[in-house]
Amino acid sequence: MVGSLSRRIVVLCSLLCLLTALLAGLLLQMSSQMHGNLAWVTHSSQVLKTANRSLSHLRVAESGQRGFTLTRDPAFARSVEVEIAGAKREASDLVHLTADNPAQNMRAKQISALVSERANILEETVRLARSGDFAGAQASTATGQGRDLMELVGVRIDDFVNEERMLAKSRFDAVERRLKLIRWLVLAGTPLTMIALALVAIVLIRGIRQPVEAMMTVMGQLGAGDRAARVTARMNSREFERLANGYNAMADELQAAVADQIDSQERLRVANLELSQNAAVLRERGEVIELLGGMAHRMQAARTDEELASIIRVFVPRVLHDIPGALYAHNNSRNLLVPVAAWGGLAVDPSGFAPEQCWALRRGQSHFVVEPGSDIVCAHTADETHHYHCEPLLAGGEVIGVLYLKGVIGSENRFRLAVLTENIASALVNHRLQRGLREQTIRDPLTGLFNRRYMEETLALEIARASRSGSPLALVMCDVDHFKRFNDEFGHDAGDAVLQTVAAELRSRFRDGDVICRFGGEEFIVIAPDTAVSVLMARVEEIRQAVSEITVQQGGRTLGSITMSFGIASWDPGMDREGTMLLKVADTALYEAKRAGRNRVVTEAKPLSLSA
Ligand code: GH3
Ligand code: MG
Ligand code: MG
Repeated sequence: MVGSLSRRIVVLCSLLCLLTALLAGLLLQMSSQMHGNLAWVTHSSQVLKTANRSLSHLRVAESGQRGFTLTRDPAFARSVEVEIAGAKREASDLVHLTADNPAQNMRAKQISALVSERANILEETVRLARSGDFAGAQASTATGQGRDLMELVGVRIDDFVNEERMLAKSRFDAVERRLKLIRWLVLAGTPLTMIALALVAIVLIRGIRQPVEAMMTVMGQLGAGDRAARVTARMNSREFERLANGYNAMADELQAAVADQIDSQERLRVANLELSQNAAVLRERGEVIELLGGMAHRMQAARTDEELASIIRVFVPRVLHDIPGALYAHNNSRNLLVPVAAWGGLAVDPSGFAPEQCWALRRGQSHFVVEPGSDIVCAHTADETHHYHCEPLLAGGEVIGVLYLKGVIGSENRFRLAVLTENIASALVNHRLQRGLREQTIRDPLTGLFNRRYMEETLALEIARASRSGSPLALVMCDVDHFKRFNDEFGHDAGDAVLQTVAAELRSRFRDGDVICRFGGEEFIVIAPDTAVSVLMARVEEIRQAVSEITVQQGGRTLGSITMSFGIASWDPGMDREGTMLLKVADTALYEAKRAGRNRVVTEAKPLSLSA
């Protein structure tokens, strides 16, 4: 427990005052006693003087009496009277002066009586002489009584004086003792007081200097920026302890306020940064949306898959800079993902891959590998692919394809990717819808083959291309033999089933580039671009053979086998550009095949083979 500094100061000052007062009291008492003693010394001196003066007056009176007796000069007689009066007065004073001392007083009274007695003798002698009786006066003097009395007075006064001197000496000694005591008190008291004063000063300095220095140090540290500086030193007094506690509390408040301020400033800075970043992000997103809007607009207008692919190849690298990739979409039977477009120099397998090979498609969400071993790698990617991103394309809750990107999609590209896939997905769906509608106008609904109108358009285009490029162009016209019988025997539906079976066979047997159409009824036409007649003849013969081996089934019943007749014609630059002549030549060849017995192939009206 720390004491109060002011109490300590009060106690020490009180002790100092007490000491000073004690010293002063003692000195005062000493001086007062000394003053008393000195008064007594003075008194003794006065007593001594009075006694001496009385004796002196008496002696002068005695010599005056002798002078008057001898000279008869009256002046002597008068002086005798004056001196006697003086001697008596002094003797009387002596009695008064020694009233305080009974022994001396008694001596004084004896002296006074002796003086009076001597004075009476002298007066008697002077009276005799004045009356002219000088002889009587001389006789009186000659008795020696006066001289004896005078000696007695002298002896008595000597005794008295000696006694008084003794008294005076003892009083003087007392004064000296007091003086010594005062000197001793001054000699001892002064250093004692100085020591006490020094003690008070030390206590004050110790009680003030150390805490003040500690506080000044801490204040200096705070001023230099050390906000954690606190007064921890011992304060030695309650007052400074309260001051230090108050200072520490103030420093705490200050530190908290500064911390609050710094915190607020930091939050403000972060908010500003976020704001500017958000503004930049918004601006960038605006640009991306504008860019993708342009892409979506073009994709909507795309007529063919190739146009769609071109748009994707141009725009995707502009949205996702420097990231090669490819867009895959489900084929019609949804068992494969076939590449729609690739960019950034990425080589893709045109045959595509199965949906099971892609984890993004299996999980219906983004799948990416940012570093080797961080996640499972999709089977459709190259083995050496260590980082890639697969983003499924979703439309109406259904997966319609996948966007494969050979690179890492950073946070800055997440928004771009999300908007991009959304745009591409909706554009793909839209494109497919449009294509479906278009398909409906160019497809035969029963067989799914191209219809006659489409065949005529395509034929004109292919003739134009062949005439331009000089590449060969062939055409096959075929017809189901005795088809009417199926209708008649099994009904119209059975006939339809035969047509569908034949169509499927033709579609599977001809090349992808060949355009297979239903020309009407049970007649079909195949446009074969870039195909020499010799090559086509062999393939058609294979197809004829395959068709003849088909046993048509419908609704669980067997309808029997079918055969087909084929007529082949090749385009010639001498023919018309619409294809009328070419069709006619093919038709003639078909007719020739029918006429020759059916189930055969005739090239340009020349029969090729006969069925077994
Ligand atoms: P040929 O060997 O001479 O070609 O004899 P054919 O019976 O196949 O030829 P024909 O021209 O005599 O008969 C064609 C029949 O095909 C007549 C028609 O009713 C029938 N037909 C035409 N279009 C369809 C169709 O869409 N469905 C069905 N079931 N029959 C059709
Ligand atoms: Mg027929
Ligand atoms: Mg026919």
